[in-house]
Formats: sequence, C-alpha cells, structure tokens
Amino acid sequence: MKSTFQKSIPKELNNCNYMNYFSLNTPDHISSFKDAVIRGIAPDKGLYFPESITPLDPSFYETIENYSTVDLAYEAIQQFIGDEIPEEELRAILSEVLDFEFPVVELEKNVATLELFHGPTMAFKDVGARFMARCLGYFSKQSNTKENVTVLVATSGDTGGAVANGFLGVEGVDVVILYPKGKVSPIQEKQLTTLGQNIRALEVEGSFDDCQAFVKKAFLDESITDHIKLTSANSINVARWLPQMLYYIIAYRQVKDKAEKLVFSVPSGNFGNICAGIVAYKLGLPVDHFIASTNVNKVIPDYMDTQTYTPRASKPTISNAMDVGDPSNFIRIQKLFSNDYDQLAALFSSESFDDDQTKAAMLKLFIENEYVADPHGAVGYLGLESYMEHHPDTYGIFLETAHPVKFLEVVEETLQTKVAIPQQIQKVMGGQKKSVEIATYEELKSYLLD
Ligand SMILES: *Cc1c(COP(=O)(O)O)cnc(C)c1O
Repeated sequence: MKSTFQKSIPKELNNCNYMNYFSLNTPDHISSFKDAVIRGIAPDKGLYFPESITPLDPSFYETIENYSTVDLAYEAIQQFIGDEIPEEELRAILSEVLDFEFPVVELEKNVATLELFHGPTMAFKDVGARFMARCLGYFSKQSNTKENVTVLVATSGDTGGAVANGFLGVEGVDVVILYPKGKVSPIQEKQLTTLGQNIRALEVEGSFDDCQAFVKKAFLDESITDHIKLTSANSINVARWLPQMLYYIIAYRQVKDKAEKLVFSVPSGNFGNICAGIVAYKLGLPVDHFIASTNVNKVIPDYMDTQTYTPRASKPTISNAMDVGDPSNFIRIQKLFSNDYDQLAALFSSESFDDDQTKAAMLKLFIENEYVADPHGAVGYLGLESYMEHHPDTYGIFLETAHPVKFLEVVEETLQTKVAIPQQIQKVMGGQKKSVEIATYEELKSYLLD
C-alpha cells in the first residue's frame, strides 16, 4: 500500500529524522512534534496533522508475534516523533504507558472484543493521557526555563480521571481539573479529587458547559497566559491521539492467524480513537473495514448517508462519553482519505443506535455470552453485528472502551446483577476528597494566579 501523502514540505532540520505537523486550517503553518504537543491546537485553531505517513515494512506484520509490546509500539510510533525524543527515552515512555494488558476476548465464532479498560482508571483514555503527560514532562525537563506547564481541563466525568492519573507525579506539569459540582458519579469524583501531588480539582457551581466555557476563556485571557503557560489535554492533542493506533496493532498480533478479513467496530464520540485506527491502516495494518458506532448523536452516520456535515447540540444518552454533536477528529479522518468521500466510504461506515437498543445488546451479551459490557462497548457490538449480517466472512472486533464499573448504575439496572468493584477502583473509593469550590470565572482566575 502506498501512502497518499507527499513529503511536500522541506524538513526543517537536515540529516535529522524529524516529523513536521501542519495545521489543517493553513497547510503551510508547520510545527515540530514538540510544539504541536505543547500548543495542542495550531495558532490558527486548526488541528495538527502529520506531514507524511510511511507504511511499515510488510515483514513487520508477518513477524509481529515476535515483537514485544514496547518494540511493536516503538516501530509504529517512532516516525511521528522522530529524534525529538531519543530512542531510549521514547522506549522508556512506551513501557510505562503500555504496562497493562489489551486482551482480545472471543465471544462468538468470529466475534471478539478488544478490552481497553485494564489501565489505572479503567478507561481507554489512559494510554493517550499517559503518553501525552510523559511527552510534556520530557519537553519540560529539556527546556532551560524552569517554568511549569499548567494543564487546564474541564471534564464531564470519564476523561478527567484518565488525565489526572496520567499526569500524576509528572515533573514540570501542574494539572487543574474543573468539574461540575454534583454532576459526576461518585467513582468519577473520587478519581478526580483524591490524587493530590500535582493534581488539583475545582468543583464548579454550574454545568459541564460552564466548566468548558471557563477553560476556553482562560486560554484566551492574557492576564493569565502572560504569567503561566497553559495547555489543554483533550483528544485534539497529537500526543493523546496518535498512541491510540497501538490498540489496533496489538489486537492484530493476537488474532493474525484467524482473521483473514479483519473488521473493527469502534464506539465513537470525538472520533479520535477510530481515526488513530485508520492511521494504523495507513501504516499497512491489514484491516478490511472500520465501523464507527455511535449513540443517537449521529452527525457522522448522517454525513455518510447524505455527504452533508451538520453539527448539532449533543443529546444525553447512557453512553455519555460519546455525547458529541460536532466530533472534532472527523476532519482528520477526511484528510486521511484526501477529503475524497468515495475513498472514505470504501473503508469506513458509521451507524447509530439508541439507548433501548444499547440496553438490549448489553442484556444479550450477558445472557448469551456471559459477558458484561458497558454501554459504550455495547454500541460497538451493535455496529459490528449489523455489519456482519451482510459480511459474514469477516472476523469482527468491537472495542470495549470502559470497564462496566465506570457506568455502574445503568449496567446493574439493565442486567439485574451486581458488578464486582475492581481493585483499582476500590483503592480510589477509600481516598480523601480534596477540592476547591468556585462559582465564577474571576474565582478561577485568582486561583490560577495565586
Ligand atoms: C472518550 C470515550 C469514547 C469515545 O472516544 P473518541 O475517541 O472520542 O471517539 C468512547 N467510550 C468511552 C468510554 C470514552 O471514554
């Protein structure tokens, strides 16, 4: 397979292994990996995109079972980082980030789930958050100024825990998390507020949208940014987005012998995870098809039907980490197919399911396969089931993006069963909550400047 990208922009450094990132808004605005990670978003508000994607040698996939997880990850991700992080350092980062299992669990003949929830916060975002944290930590250590970077993040629940945990103890980085008071689950609140060290939580009198508005305002407020270096930790950041490609390659290593035609169904919200899967495909990973499974927030399924992109306000669902009305990474997916709809539609489809269908799928998986899926995984299962009705000769893997305990109430109510609380979560539940309550933007500002 040939990459569709031209190395049209001259490398900034001669004789150096180096990746340029350009802004999808203004393609001649280029940046190093380091600057892309520190800025998060380009100065023109565009998303960063790698200038080239060079497929790995076919022998890599032919002999993949001989690679350790860290070796495999290094081979796949190295070209996106170049020499900006030296090999030894990058390997050390990868071995810390990937220190848990990513098992493919077969449920039926030719149907399996890839469990991404075995990390410290039991959300698949652990990998991206930890990778980004360690890259920032490395760059901060390298810089001469002893100035810390402050990661400011608003969370409606699941993301914040992964970010908080990922950055815990990373030198040179402070984290301030805003969450809406009384609107996150007890487990989620503990995950945000009990860590201590360089992680601080602000409990905002208001909604998630208020938290988000405060954060956006702070990034534009020079009376803050003149004094402290602020950055975000959302999935727009290349260091959070790209390492997700590794899930697909690690899954392939497990099913290579039985999956001649491999299909992935990815429960999608901001479409960062599935977009990274398509990057793995561009690296030569033998995948036949990608399904983006969504809840009723179905801007992309509608786009695939009509070729018209219409963002909408999000609707609340039981798979709430996917309640997104304007998926930020879809523009990157389009770019991966040279903005050509037919190319995209040849490899990618998208389907939407409502909460009743999601609950029915959770129940079916529980009764027929003795498998407890969370609502996000169940949406992934539905997308796969629907595709495989018409493509029975494929091997399908749906991604399970959160442990069911993260969505305890709806899981226990739907399945009429108790979910055992895993050790990671029990540990947090016993911790002491520490947070500061704020109600206004001025309070946030004085907190940050204090
Ligand atoms: C964030 C998240 C998703 C959606 O991932 P995207 O990369 O935004 O598409 C799905 N499931 C869970 C549990 C999540 O936390």
